[in-house]
Amino acid sequence: MPRTRSAEEILRRLVRISPADRADAVTHVERVPARPARHSEWPAWADPRVVAAFQALGAERPWTHQAEAAQSLHDGHHVVLATGTASGKSLGYLLPLLTSLLDGASVGRRGGTALYLAPTKALAADQARRIRELRLPMAPAACLDGDTTPEERQWIRDHGALALSNPDLLHYSLLPDHRRWAPFLRRLRYVVVDECHAYRGVLGSHVAAVLRRLRRVCAQYGAHPVFALASATTAQPEETASRLTGLPVTAVTDDGSPHGELLFALWEPPFTDRRGEGGAPVRRSAIAESAALLGDLVRDEVRTVAFVRSRRGAELVSLIAREQIGEPDPAVPGRIAAYRAGYLREDRRALEADLLSGRLLGVAATNALELGVDLAGLDAVLLTGYPGTRSSVWQQAGRAGRSGSDALAVLVARDDPLDTYLVHHPEALFGKSVEGTVLNPNNPYILWSHLCAAAAEFPLTADDLDLFGPGAPALAAELSRSGWLRQRAGGWYWTRSERAADLADLRGSGGTPVRIVESATGRLLGQVDAAAAHSTVHEGAVYLHQGVTYVVESLDLETSVAVVEAKEPGYTTHAREISHLRILREERAEDWSPRTRLAYGSVEVTNQVVGYLRRDTTSGSVLGEESLDLPSRTLSTKAVWWTMAPSALVEADLAAPDIPGAAHAAEHAAIGLLPLFAQCDRWDIGGLSTAQHPDTGLPTVFVHDGLPGGGGFAERGYQQARAWLSATRDAIGACECPAGCPSCVQSPKCGNGNQPLDKTGAIRLLGVLLDGR
Ligand SMILES: [Zn+2]
Ligand SMILES: [Zn+2]
Repeated sequence: MPRTRSAEEILRRLVRISPADRADAVTHVERVPARPARHSEWPAWADPRVVAAFQALGAERPWTHQAEAAQSLHDGHHVVLATGTASGKSLGYLLPLLTSLLDGASVGRRGGTALYLAPTKALAADQARRIRELRLPMAPAACLDGDTTPEERQWIRDHGALALSNPDLLHYSLLPDHRRWAPFLRRLRYVVVDECHAYRGVLGSHVAAVLRRLRRVCAQYGAHPVFALASATTAQPEETASRLTGLPVTAVTDDGSPHGELLFALWEPPFTDRRGEGGAPVRRSAIAESAALLGDLVRDEVRTVAFVRSRRGAELVSLIAREQIGEPDPAVPGRIAAYRAGYLREDRRALEADLLSGRLLGVAATNALELGVDLAGLDAVLLTGYPGTRSSVWQQAGRAGRSGSDALAVLVARDDPLDTYLVHHPEALFGKSVEGTVLNPNNPYILWSHLCAAAAEFPLTADDLDLFGPGAPALAAELSRSGWLRQRAGGWYWTRSERAADLADLRGSGGTPVRIVESATGRLLGQVDAAAAHSTVHEGAVYLHQGVTYVVESLDLETSVAVVEAKEPGYTTHAREISHLRILREERAEDWSPRTRLAYGSVEVTNQVVGYLRRDTTSGSVLGEESLDLPSRTLSTKAVWWTMAPSALVEADLAAPDIPGAAHAAEHAAIGLLPLFAQCDRWDIGGLSTAQHPDTGLPTVFVHDGLPGGGGFAERGYQQARAWLSATRDAIGACECPAGCPSCVQSPKCGNGNQPLDKTGAIRLLGVLLDGR
């Protein structure tokens, strides 16, 4: 069924369906022009068998970025390839890698080896299958993960050429067992780190340490492999890749692959009659709006995928859209379906076939679709809320468009400061990249366990410590004082009986997570991070899990278990928290004017959940307040903060009584906007504001990392402070609400019940800072 309408016409009809509602919804339309393919020639050094294998798969000639990366790697440079989805990044690194493996390998003789690392087992398995399909005369590409048998491992060690694995396996198994892996490591020519933007925050800091350990162990065996990294994030790829590997890395970013024209609309749902916290107006939810658009598009026979962040959200979008097109019974197959992770391979293939044939016209999907299903040639893509990173935006929008025709993408904003900012500042999405992957390789809370693991691999020398960053010598000294390492003439030794590698959990976030158990069935529903447990699963808390509402009966901190009961109490709960922050050390600072200052450094944050508010689900009004008796928790981390002299604030019409509300509102909005500059979630960071902080003696606003030792987010905020805080001021100023709403200064995780908040005061306060008045 060929589509005859242009993307422009589809969008125009969509707005016309409900002009009263939708006239102002489209805040911007961006035309992403079609990009023609740019080709290069195969390099002369490339093995003709590898070239022939790629040609057989349809790559007649390499695209320019593939050739550029391949050449650079072949010349021995470490490279990060940061180009769009489906731009064939793997050919760029596989060409030199496979050429090198074939070179020197002959019957009965072993050539070089290579290691490929992916963030998930599934991705590594997928890549291994594709490489085997090239049918090259070399040892078959082998997966090395938790499921690999001892016999298979033995075979890879002795005969393997290319092993596809993950950082977890390196950390727990290959590196501690390096003596047995010596035959493989000694020949290591290339290390591929695929999807390297996945290594951010805690995981990023761990993986940075694991890669340094790998480099050190290889060097002991005389191998100095070339690193090839692939990333979907185009902001600062060199810096990210260098931080991750500790090596100088060259970036290849000029994408030579083709795509069709894309019409990209930014969509802001209208205000509703409902009132939220403090009587603030509330916009229609992105879920409801996306469902309405999906229904309208399907009715118009436009093949559409709506991406939704949560599984429950995807099901809701599908349900509402089906009601709208008169197919309300989910048991009867209709023209719209929900798709989520966990579907079997056969289900996925059936879904692809139905969409292709036109029997199915609309799908509401979680991001799982990015990996599991091969869908091309859709007419339209709906993004239900900003998916968190620009690379995800392009991954999702990239699903639209079949060859030779244009396509439509619509980003439907959620009711929060970041989405609101983006739909009013298209340049932040379509212009120069701002957000980069953030990781902190120097976090001592993470590094200490890897220093122990490294010492267990080979004794650590003073020279080795350089590899692990400027804080490593002091940390090693501390570890020997506290008995973890033993210092001898030759360096630091691991002499304890336990396995050093067991000290670090790459995917953990510190502290024992609290398990959530249903009282009636004893069923384990899930878990929450230790850091979030006090405020989300305290006794009496209403806890939402996959769309089902539970009330917490008890929270046992000794055993880390919360017992819950499925119940719809008709109210929501909001934890009340008291927080203190102590500045331990100011590490960097800039005076922005004689009366304003920006700083970054180490802080200690103490939080105590002291009670909670119950709010009516529909009206938002407060039904009551209960108190709780929970211990306080202390977090040593990094923060960015700014101070302003009261005299400067008075000149901007901010009298002393106005300062707490203005600072608090600025803090909330700044937290909401930081994810645009540092690849984090608003839940990864926290804040505190005060009219007079004991350590500065001045009105101060802090934004801090939520991870012990710091995740690098506050640091990025410090580095990008002008852009970040200007965006924060613009976001508050552009919001049409009278006195603050979830789109600007209200925060869903405020420990003070969003009190006090002064929206216009926040604009003036940020003005004092930014304009240096
Ligand atoms: Zn607002
Ligand atoms: Zn707050």
